[in-house]
Amino acid sequence: MNKFRRDALKMGAAALAMIPVIALAAKNDGVRKSMQYQDTPKDGKKCSACTQFVAGKSAKENGCKVFPNDTEVAADGWCIAFAAKA
Ligand code: SF4
Repeated sequence: MNKFRRDALKMGAAALAMIPVIALAAKNDGVRKSMQYQDTPKDGKKCSACTQFVAGKSAKENGCKVFPNDTEVAADGWCIAFAAKA
C-alpha cells in the first residue's frame, strides 16, 4: 500500500472516530396502543418474563419482537401478547 492510500485511510478512520455515537431511543406508539402496552406488570406478568422480550442495556432500554423499532420497552411492562418463557 502506498503512502497516499495509507494516509487517506488514517484520515478516514479519524473522521469516523469524531462522529458522535448517539443511541436514539424510540417508541412504536401505534403497536403499543393496539397491544394495550403498559409500563407496569399485570397480574404478576411482565415483559422480562415474556418470550418476546429482548433485553437491552438498562431496565428501560429493551426491545420486543412484537414491537418493531421500539427501544423503550420496560422490563416491568406488559401487553396482551405476553407469552411466558418456558
Ligand atoms: S410481547 Fe408484550 S409482554 Fe411480551 S415483551 Fe413484548 S411488550 Fe412485553
